[in-house]
Amino acid sequence: MPAPGAAMPEFATHEVFNQPGPLVDVNLFETHRALQDALRFNAPELDPAPLRELGALAGSAEMQTHARLANVHTPELRTHDRFGHRLDEVEFHPSYHALMAAAVRAGLHGAPWGTSASGAHVLRAAGFMLFTGLEPSILCPISMSYAVTPALRANAAVYADWAPKLTSRSYDPLLKPFTEKPGVTMGMGMTEKQGGSDVRSNSTRAVADGSDGWGPRFRVTGHKWFFSAPMCDAFLILANTPAGLSCLFLPRVLPDGSRNALRIQRLKDKLGNKANASSEVEFQEATAWLVGEEGRGVPKILEMGTLTRLDCALGTSGLMRQALALALDHTRQRMAFGKRLIEQPLMRNVLADLALESEAATALALRLARGYDKRGDAHEAAIARLLTPISKFWICKRGSAFAQEAMECLGGNGYVEEGGEGVMARIYREMPVNSIWEGAGNIMALDLLRALRSGDAGAALAHELAAARGAHPALDRLASSLPARVEEMATEVEARRLAQEVALAVQAALLAQTAPPAVVDAFCASRLDGDWGQAFGTLSGRTDFDAILLRALPR
Ligand SMILES: Cc1cc2nc3c(=O)[nH]c(=O)nc-3n(C[C@H](O)[C@H](O)[C@H](O)COP(=O)(O)OP(=O)(O)OC[C@H]3O[C@@H](n4cnc5c(N)ncnc54)[C@H](O)[C@@H]3O)c2cc1C
Repeated sequence: MPAPGAAMPEFATHEVFNQPGPLVDVNLFETHRALQDALRFNAPELDPAPLRELGALAGSAEMQTHARLANVHTPELRTHDRFGHRLDEVEFHPSYHALMAAAVRAGLHGAPWGTSASGAHVLRAAGFMLFTGLEPSILCPISMSYAVTPALRANAAVYADWAPKLTSRSYDPLLKPFTEKPGVTMGMGMTEKQGGSDVRSNSTRAVADGSDGWGPRFRVTGHKWFFSAPMCDAFLILANTPAGLSCLFLPRVLPDGSRNALRIQRLKDKLGNKANASSEVEFQEATAWLVGEEGRGVPKILEMGTLTRLDCALGTSGLMRQALALALDHTRQRMAFGKRLIEQPLMRNVLADLALESEAATALALRLARGYDKRGDAHEAAIARLLTPISKFWICKRGSAFAQEAMECLGGNGYVEEGGEGVMARIYREMPVNSIWEGAGNIMALDLLRALRSGDAGAALAHELAAARGAHPALDRLASSLPARVEEMATEVEARRLAQEVALAVQAALLAQTAPPAVVDAFCASRLDGDWGQAFGTLSGRTDFDAILLRALPR
């Protein structure tokens, strides 16, 4: 019997074996062949060295510990200090700040706007995907800070003051006047209690309050029902002026150093996205400046929304890749019925099917990012308009089903949180949010119909699909019929169906130009030619599983 206070020895029955080790200290870029090929295709001129560096960081045990801690020690709202003064601040664990600093250092929040280098948005998009594999929720303010620039340009004076700080690689979490900060972050406020998709129902009001160096100034009174990352330095919001819904720039700290009249009512208790604070706020005569034309706020703020939609597609692709990597790594180590799981025929089918989905998502999201790199090119602009709602709809829609199947590959271990170490559980909880925020699925499908009204979508799609002519008979058939059907315009009731068809056709065409024949054949046979079931793991027995799995392995 052990002496009192001595550690109890393990029972002889407590033997740990056949339990896979964690996937740590792996370079997330070097092991992501699909991303490397997509990168070469979309921006062959790019030097991938920064991505190699970011891939090593994102895969490191140290950063993974930060990701765990930031999700376990979730943000806390401090409405008042202990003397009763209003604070309206959110307190984060130091690991949150470590992750934010790393993302800003990598330029994921704004680097492309500070350079004229070709491929800058593609480079940033690939980095965003890699970082998502580490921790997705802190990327909410990072994404909003990236997305704000095109809209913010509509107030040249604010833009001139804030743009250098939005592209700076320094992260400063404190609430201070922007002049005292080396770098800043920005968020957005559209959604109100009575409507998020239908922002025209916004009830927040803004009354004119003169003008200064930043242009027409307003006093804003109202509320926002979802207001993520409220510790950002400023926000673009929608409010009603006498001319109609207008886009306004609302800083948290005013230029004179006083706090703007914004109250954080409470933080949302969310399913996932735990490290990020999402809040409800109210404004009482808060000070804000006009961005763009009064009464034209919705199209102006949607210039920001368009880029956050790109990030939803990128983010989900990154999460898919990480879920796949975890599933492959686990099944390569775990034995069942006398074989490694990855050697079991049915598990090979599941894993290969997931690998196809992940690679197709990667290819589509990065292709979309290229559209934002070359906005001056008419074809690229048409492709960005067409593929933004399609990619956001389709990739995000596939995310949750994907995460469930990848989780199942880990068996019971996949479902366990274990103090935040259950990375798969975290991915699963995160997946739905990219589909809901920044325009839920139906809103994306309806936006596709709007994009088709521009008239050049059919020609842009035909051009895109023609590049893969001859790759697979099913793709050829689609390429000859789909662009014309796109021109005919679907009715609202069929809009999701059209979005799915275009997404799959473009994914197939991209894979034909970036992926090995085994991937292309299996993707086209399953997704385009009907040789597939309704769950993952229903590929034909003729599939070249070896080639698909070898390409996807994370070590
Ligand atoms: C974690 C999180 C953070 C968020 N952060 C922010 C933020 O920082 N800033 C911000 O402004 N918002 C934010 N949002 C809000 C988000 O953008 C909205 O929740 C989303 O746009 C949907 O709006 P809603 O919740 O009002 O739902 P609704 O608009 O009521 O929509 C409900 C459902 O109806 C569907 N629907 C709506 N209209 C139609 C139609 N005409 N035809 C068919 N279907 C339709 C939608 O697709 C959706 O599925 C956040 C949301 C979440 C979950």
